[in-house]
Amino acid sequence: PYDVLVIGGGPAGASAAIYAARKGIRTGLVAERFGGQVMDTMAIENFISVKATEGPKLVHGLEEHVKDYDVDIMAEQKVDAVVPADETEDGYIHVILENGARLKARSTIVTTGARWREMNVPGEQEYRNKGVAYCPHCDGPLFKGKKTAVIGGGNSGIEAAIDLAGIVEHVTVLEFADTLRADQVLIDKANSLPNVEIIKMAQTTEVEGDGTRVTGLNYKDRESGEIKHVEVAGIFVQIGLVPNSEFLKTSGIELSDRGEIVIGDRGETSKPGIFAAGDVTTVPYKQIIIAMGEGSRASLGAFDYLIRNPAP
Ligand code: FAD
Repeated sequence: PYDVLVIGGGPAGASAAIYAARKGIRTGLVAERFGGQVMDTMAIENFISVKATEGPKLVHGLEEHVKDYDVDIMAEQKVDAVVPADETEDGYIHVILENGARLKARSTIVTTGARWREMNVPGEQEYRNKGVAYCPHCDGPLFKGKKTAVIGGGNSGIEAAIDLAGIVEHVTVLEFADTLRADQVLIDKANSLPNVEIIKMAQTTEVEGDGTRVTGLNYKDRESGEIKHVEVAGIFVQIGLVPNSEFLKTSGIELSDRGEIVIGDRGETSKPGIFAAGDVTTVPYKQIIIAMGEGSRASLGAFDYLIRNPAP
């Protein structure tokens, strides 16, 4: 059995694995796709101490760093379920893979990340990273002085609009419903900004581009049924971040109402020996540098747990 088994190979998982291996304990890492969301990222300009890099390049660095240590990497393996130690006969935590294999561990760190909810309209995939963006903290500055749209009028959408308004020329917010679901203080702030326009009852129907970049979008006015066009260079999709926690439904690990793993100060979950870090957890603000910090913290938390609890 592993002392620490990390589930997930994004920035949080890589960091957790390195911190564990540096303690000289038996460490494994199982991931569906090494690199996680970073693999899908083009420009990264907010990874402190590296002025600018690209996703695949950063992932290469992560992999090299993990491989420098004695970590058992099981890539391209999907985890289907986790059985907490109090439910197994041998007292180990069991991690069950999609292929039926069963891994055993004294502690596990879940770092399975999240995925942005997509609009599922024509052009969205084609122009992903070519104007279609999901993270204003990351990509906002790429649209300096240009016209942009934000899809979604919840807290994240209105926050994005306020954030972008200070950088870009103009922001159009498109909300599907007839009301905004954001906090009133955010709505008031957005309404006070001269370069933010909010359109309700608007269903985005298509992303348009010139073959290389986004040039605009079409939406249906849900009152009149009319299709309207907005000229923009960037579209920020803010209709929700979905945590990859479905496989934990049977584990009894406490999840928030959004499906995020509820963690404490040391990355611990509601089940002994099971820790979690990064975008899959309740930690606010989902960023690479935060995921790495959280991964190291959960790993130290797991080590602390191991030295206080004897092996079964
Ligand atoms: P992830 O990166 O999501 O990694 C999750 C890992 O778990 C993956 O290895 C995945 O394969 C694995 N996994 C999931 N489910 C299972 C399962 N059932 N079994 C086994 N393995 C599983 N942040 C920044 O700081 N700067 C940026 O510029 C930036 N740009 C971004 C651009 C885009 C397009 C996107 C999508 C995100 C961007 N982010 C950026 C956010 C950043 O990528 C995330 O905050 C970060 O990757 C979270 O790390 P994580 O390790 O928690 O999860």
